[in-house]
Amino acid sequence: MPMDFRSDTVTRPTPEMRRAMAEAEVGDDVYGEDPTVRRLEEECASMLGTQDALFVCSGTMGNLTAALTWCPRGTSAIVGSMSHMYNYEAGGMSALGGVFPAVVDDSSGCPALEDVKAAVRGSGNVHFSPTRLLCLENTHNSCGGVAVEIERFRSLALKAREEGLYVHLDGARLFNACVALGCEARLYGEAVTSVMICLSKGLGAPMGSVLCGPSDFIAEARGWRKRLGGGLRQSGVVAAAGLVALRSIDRLHEDHENAALLSRGLEDGGLKVHRVPNPTNMVYFSLPGSVSPGGFVRALAGKGVFVGALPDGRIRMVTHRDVSREDVLAAVPVVLKEAGLRS
Ligand SMILES: *Cc1c(COP(=O)(O)O)cnc(C)c1O
Repeated sequence: MPMDFRSDTVTRPTPEMRRAMAEAEVGDDVYGEDPTVRRLEEECASMLGTQDALFVCSGTMGNLTAALTWCPRGTSAIVGSMSHMYNYEAGGMSALGGVFPAVVDDSSGCPALEDVKAAVRGSGNVHFSPTRLLCLENTHNSCGGVAVEIERFRSLALKAREEGLYVHLDGARLFNACVALGCEARLYGEAVTSVMICLSKGLGAPMGSVLCGPSDFIAEARGWRKRLGGGLRQSGVVAAAGLVALRSIDRLHEDHENAALLSRGLEDGGLKVHRVPNPTNMVYFSLPGSVSPGGFVRALAGKGVFVGALPDGRIRMVTHRDVSREDVLAAVPVVLKEAGLRS
C-alpha cells in the first residue's frame, strides 16, 4: 500500500459518506431547494457563530468569492506573503476581480498590527488603491501548519476592523487549529467578518468548502458564486458527505499525534525539522545540501512514500485519516535513508 503524505486532500470518502451521498435528499440548489445543502450551510453557520453560510466547490472558490464580495474593483486586500491566497490561488482576486494585493509579512503565522496599519490606504488620495480587506489564515499552511491562538488572532482582527477593514479568515484547516488549541471555532468566526472552511482536507469529504458570514454578505456572495460558475444543482449529493465530515472533527487529534511522532522520528534521525509553536498535521523539513528535493521526492515515490517539495526546497509531509500510526513508523526509516542519513 502506498503511503501518501503529500496532503490531507488525498483522503477517500468513507463508506458512511458514500452511503449518505447515495441517500441524500436533494433539490435544485440554484432555486434554493436542496434541503441537504441548506442543512450543511445552517450547521456551519451555527458552528462558526455567523448568521448564514454558502456551500462552494472548493476553498479557492470560497476565498475568491469572499474577496470579490468584500472588495470592489480597484480596491486592495492585505494578504500575507506566505499565505495560500497570495501564493496558491492563481492570482484569482486580481485576475477576476481587479483586486490589488497589498503584501505583509506573516511568517509567524499572523501579520503584526503595525504592518497591517502601515499597509492601509485611504480613499481620499487619487494615488491610492483604497484598502478594504485583511486576509488571515489559520492554521497557516506554509508557516508549518501552525495554529494561531485566539487571543493573538482576535486582537489583530478586531483592531483591523476598528481601522475600517473587513477581515476574512482562510480557515481551510480551522478545525485543526481548534482541536490543537482546545478552542471553539465560533470564537474565530466571531472575530472576523467572513470565514471559509474546507470539508475536503482533514475532514475527508470528497469536495466542498463553506463560506460563512453575515446574511447580507452571504446573499451577495451567492451572486458572485453564480458569476464564477459555482451555482450547482443537486449538490446535496456532495453536501451529504460534508455533513458526515463535520462529525469527524474530534478525530483530528490523531493526525496531530501522528505528525508529532513523524517529527520526532525524522529529527532523531538527523533531519532538520522546522518546529512551530502549536503544531497540527504538517511536518516541514529541509534536506542536507547534497540532496536535491526533486530527486528525493521521486526516489521516495518509487518506494511507495509520497511527499511534497515546495519551490523553496522545503519538504512537506501531511498526516490525515488515510495514513496510520503504523504507516508513520514505517515511513520514517525510508525517508531518512533517501535523505542519506541511514544506509
Ligand atoms: C487547500 C487550501 C486552500 C484551497 O482549498 P482548495 O479546496 O484546494 O481550493 C485554501 N487555503 C489553504 C490554507 C489551503 O491549504
